[in-house]
Amino acid sequence: MSNSDVIYETIILGSGPAGLTAAIYAARSRCCPLLIHGIQPGGQLTATTAVDNYPGFPEGIDGPELMDKMRLQAERFGAQFVEGVVTKVDFQERPFRLWVDEELYRCLSLIITTGASPMLLGLGNEESLYGRGVSVCATCDGFFYRDREVVVVGGGDTAMEEAVFLTRFAKKVTVVHRRDSLRATPILADRALTNKAINFKWDSAVTEIIADTSGVTGIRIKNLKTGQESELTCDGVFIAIGHKPNTALFADLLDRDDDGYILTQNGTETNIPGVFAAGDVQDHQFRQAITAAGTGCMAAIQAERFLDDLPYDPSLSCQKGICRLKS
Ligand code: NAP
Repeated sequence: MSNSDVIYETIILGSGPAGLTAAIYAARSRCCPLLIHGIQPGGQLTATTAVDNYPGFPEGIDGPELMDKMRLQAERFGAQFVEGVVTKVDFQERPFRLWVDEELYRCLSLIITTGASPMLLGLGNEESLYGRGVSVCATCDGFFYRDREVVVVGGGDTAMEEAVFLTRFAKKVTVVHRRDSLRATPILADRALTNKAINFKWDSAVTEIIADTSGVTGIRIKNLKTGQESELTCDGVFIAIGHKPNTALFADLLDRDDDGYILTQNGTETNIPGVFAAGDVQDHQFRQAITAAGTGCMAAIQAERFLDDLPYDPSLSCQKGICRLKS
């Protein structure tokens, strides 16, 4: 079946908890939505170890396993999956048009769950040192720092989780935070603060990542209260300073807030009827797997109601979530 022949009733962009939950609901109600994976199949949870706060798993569950289960659940009801990243969209008229590289996809309703990506410090050599000492994922890379010295930058939940996780491998873990108190929730903050293997550098900013040809060898730190600069030897720098929403593709099309998050109303509606947004791409407040899943469910229900209310189009023949132009 060529994509140019079909118009999907619902396409979902993104495969984190919001996208997969939308796929489960959309597949159960009208069948066969198409889900396009995006940059990180499974979303941010694939870079997490134990998820302790997702309801229904009293012993906790690993992030990748949770995402596998959601995908299997969506497949069970007929959701279809495409590997790839959407590079262009056109919402001028319905059906909406989307391109995965050169391949065109068309749909009557769209659910955007493209999530958010880790923020970087903005230092010159940061990205070129990816895989050679700079990381945004302790779960993915911690193993490589056995008996090494590492730094974690940030004071939020992610930074604390990463610091604690890294103590399993590294011989020294130092958290560098720009203030003198943590943003992390008390339970995660306490876990890090009481962990004797973790040192804290308060009121401090990383001003330089020092490296030689083999990778990171240290960082330069500036104390933001005293202005004093110092160097800290380390083999790895884990940056955990938050995320930015993956919305560049929709910049001129959808209303967004100053930080780039898609603005929604009445649940998950965007400023374009038929385009819905769910999960971290529209939520800078809660950003939890369960809230993302919740808004994914809302988006699928709202997309279904939107499709139900569309005027009858005699030129289309629709079956199991897929429409074709009548010849
Ligand atoms: P976050 O809460 O936004 O924290 C980001 C941290 O990085 C803050 O401490 C911030 O400092 C610091 N920061 C931001 N920009 C910086 C910069 N340019 N240079 C240096 N430091 C910078 O992000 P997060 O920790 O990734 O958490 C995001 C959300 O996910 C939160 O809602 C969190 O609760 C949730 N989460 C939950 C869990 C869990 O429940 N298990 C685990 C991870 C994340 P300031 O404090 O000074 O602003």
